[in-house]
Amino acid sequence: MTAPLRLSLDTNALCDNWRALDRLSGPAACGAAVKADGYGLGARGVVERLAQTGARDFFVANWNEAAAIADLVNDPAIGLSVLHGVRAEDMPLAGQGFARPVLSTCDQVQRWRSAGGGPCDVMVDTGMNRLGVSTEDVAQGLLKGIAIDTIMSHLARADEDVVANAIQRDRMEALRGMTGARRMSLANSAGIVLGAEYAFDLTRPGLALYGGVPRDALAGVVRQVVTPQAQILQRRLLAAGDSIGYNARYTATQAVEVAILNIGYADGYWRGFSNSGHGSVGGARLPVLGRVSMDLTAISVDALPTLAEGDWVTLDFALPGASAQSGMSQYELLTGLGARFDRIWS
Ligand SMILES: *Cc1c(COP(=O)(O)O)cnc(C)c1O
Repeated sequence: MTAPLRLSLDTNALCDNWRALDRLSGPAACGAAVKADGYGLGARGVVERLAQTGARDFFVANWNEAAAIADLVNDPAIGLSVLHGVRAEDMPLAGQGFARPVLSTCDQVQRWRSAGGGPCDVMVDTGMNRLGVSTEDVAQGLLKGIAIDTIMSHLARADEDVVANAIQRDRMEALRGMTGARRMSLANSAGIVLGAEYAFDLTRPGLALYGGVPRDALAGVVRQVVTPQAQILQRRLLAAGDSIGYNARYTATQAVEVAILNIGYADGYWRGFSNSGHGSVGGARLPVLGRVSMDLTAISVDALPTLAEGDWVTLDFALPGASAQSGMSQYELLTGLGARFDRIWS
């Protein structure tokens, strides 16, 4: 059954974004972070397309996510890495060999080594203080005797111009040659445009693949992939003085034609778009009126007298602007996109 709301997903934009990030990565390979169901787009649709375009390294957060795309990455030239490493209860799945754990604690290293230690990746903490073994532990031989494909670290502030980036980069550089790892990897989307010395052997963009712009240098380089569309459930006329929606956060100062759309914050069209977002049909701009509800959003349709029940409206979701309007990060806007959409790739 077709859903009453849809996410229109642009294959060419996704693949062009990957190609642009691959070029910006210089001689380094360019992978793809597809955790959180491909940042809300649907991991399977993303992986199929990017594998066909040439991406050879994919990253998910946990083993459930890995198992859900395992059949799409069974080409031996394609690698899948599980960023949260491996818990004791993950070992049966991890032992199947369709993905590599990114080991990030001494316990995980121990667990992997005592199980026989197939190919793995290792996360080293260079200053974010989130996941990763310490550079001291690496220097003292923690990783001896395990087969490391990629040693990686993660930048905490790649979207800012701060000296912390260079410090993390230098700590990464100091690990060169210390572990027998085949490759080194540091940069996320924003890190790719910090400079060639951040690329190492493999980059790991997520946000920018999906049209997000974490640094100005990526504006005009990547383009929007995701467009939510919703259907009109009802059209009504507000008289001057009438207000609309929960808590009456919009009151008409003159007569206004309104359409009620079947989308709301349960779909990831956040309450921050109340009185600030807009829809569009054929170039006409249709401002959101009042508060976004769980399942419903009102827009002004004064500009379009013939727009009727059942017609589709496109919600403006251009990520940098939508982030400013809603107060949500570009990451939250993408990963919040709900389960009620049909995800339709063009
Ligand atoms: C999510 C993630 C990425 C991708 O980051 P973006 O900012 O979305 O490009 C890369 N590496 C790691 C370890 C991550 O967790």
